[in-house]
Amino acid sequence: MKIDHIAIVVKNLDATLALYTRTLGFREVYREIVADQGIEAVGLEAGDSVIELLRPLDEDSPVARFRGEAETKLHHTAYRVDDIEAKLDEYRAKGVRLIDERPRKGAHGNLIAFLHPKSTGGVLIELCQKSHD
Ligand code: ZN
Repeated sequence: MKIDHIAIVVKNLDATLALYTRTLGFREVYREIVADQGIEAVGLEAGDSVIELLRPLDEDSPVARFRGEAETKLHHTAYRVDDIEAKLDEYRAKGVRLIDERPRKGAHGNLIAFLHPKSTGGVLIELCQKSHD
């Protein structure tokens, strides 16, 4: 499986974006509000993958509490799959705890589902199936 994106939750999006683009040299490839997840997401090109900076829309949300006082914090790794339903069935059968029993809409209309970090050694893992539009 390829890495689709690595998501980093940030406190100050403008400052972190300046760091990643002006200082580190990444190129911004998208920016969108994902209302479902309560975040603004900015994608930075990293080869065939993306570094995604997440800004919580609500500072009382779980994602903001996860970040806490840190300037930035690794939030999840996302792997690209061709058939997300089949992968969820496979992992469920292997006893992996799922946060999302069914896929839901992520950024760009992709289908996504999270595995529970209790089943993945502590790092939150997202499965991501590209939309075909
Ligand atoms: Zn993600």
